[in-house]
Amino acid sequence: MPGVLAAFAVLFCAVLIPLLTWRADALQTSSRHELIDGIALSFAAMELKFSAADFNGWQTGYALDIRRGAQAAATDQGAGRRAFLDSASSFRNQLDSIAAMELTEEQKRHIAQARRDFDRFMLLDERIIDAYRHGNAAAMAEADRLVMEDEIRLFQSISNDVGTVASSVTLVAMKNAGEAEVGGQKARLLMIASSAIAIGLAITVSLLLRRWMLTTRELVLQLEQLAGTDQLTGVANRRAWNERIRMVEANAKRSGQPLVVAIFDVDDFKKYNDRNGHIAGDEMLRRIAQRMQSLVRAGDLFARYGGEEFVLALANCSIDCGRAKVGELLRSMPDEQTCSAGLTLYESGETIEATLARADKALYRAKEQGRNQAVTLMPRDTAQSA
Ligand code: GH3
Ligand code: MG
Ligand code: MG
Repeated sequence: MPGVLAAFAVLFCAVLIPLLTWRADALQTSSRHELIDGIALSFAAMELKFSAADFNGWQTGYALDIRRGAQAAATDQGAGRRAFLDSASSFRNQLDSIAAMELTEEQKRHIAQARRDFDRFMLLDERIIDAYRHGNAAAMAEADRLVMEDEIRLFQSISNDVGTVASSVTLVAMKNAGEAEVGGQKARLLMIASSAIAIGLAITVSLLLRRWMLTTRELVLQLEQLAGTDQLTGVANRRAWNERIRMVEANAKRSGQPLVVAIFDVDDFKKYNDRNGHIAGDEMLRRIAQRMQSLVRAGDLFARYGGEEFVLALANCSIDCGRAKVGELLRSMPDEQTCSAGLTLYESGETIEATLARADKALYRAKEQGRNQAVTLMPRDTAQSA
């Protein structure tokens, strides 16, 4: 179950990482766009404000020229008026282009008002020029009044509207810049989060893999052990003996060190079962096996060969050492139980099966001679009692 949960968590993270990365990217891109749009609008509004001052300056300049009697200035060919008309036309274009940009309702209202005032300003300009051109005192006085009052008022109104829009779009641009910063921070946080999840994912997957590998290895070891262990007594079984004795044999052959092989058979075990029952017989076998196992060295090979028979291979052990060890094992039998044994020495060049057959022969002799004893049968030798 934890494995299934972990797999789901891994899958979830694998989906989450690209989602977070995509969101971070989208955040960064939209913040950047908002920032650029805001700055562009702010620049356009500033330019508009300067442009308004520009055309008003030109208008005042050439109006004064006319006032001073420079009639030429009042014609469309006059340098001052041409400059004013160019400047006014450029202002109108800027006003129209900013009106087409993305504005709030309030900003649109100010721009529309500025546009209306600008049109009035231009009409007024025509009237003033006409009056100055006319040249009589009453008309000049009226033109002076228009310049000093109406024109100034209109220009102030245009200037106020344009100024209001410029300030408000600049504020929006600054706000956007702040939001872009926040957006950037959020994007960075998302990127950090997705990287952290990716690292976590990698660690989790490697830990899970390690755990699964360990569990599998453990299972394999357990299976191997179970396959080589006798279920009743817990010592190695005949299968394990057959496998491991090859290695013991090869070592003895290679090193030339003596190798003792012994077979044990519990005496009159049929009678024991008959007297005490099969379950008690099982228990006795278990105790015998465990006791014998506890007395052999780690390097020695001890196994249940079948029924009430056990085998022992003593590596690097002379026949005398073998006799001593087998004698010790026979004396270690629990309760009044006895056991017989046959032992022999492995002879280089022969098969281990041949060695075992000789040990079995020795065991047969031990039984024949009255049980509860060990008999040694050397290669090419006659039987000897231990
Ligand atoms: P001997 O001294 O000649 O070996 O006499 P024995 O009775 O031990 O030999 P025999 O071959 O006649 O009988 C072996 C007995 O061992 C019979 C069998 O029931 C018993 N035996 C073998 N394996 C087990 C086992 O796993 N559990 C129990 N309880 N008894 C077993
Ligand atoms: Mg037997
Ligand atoms: Mg027996």
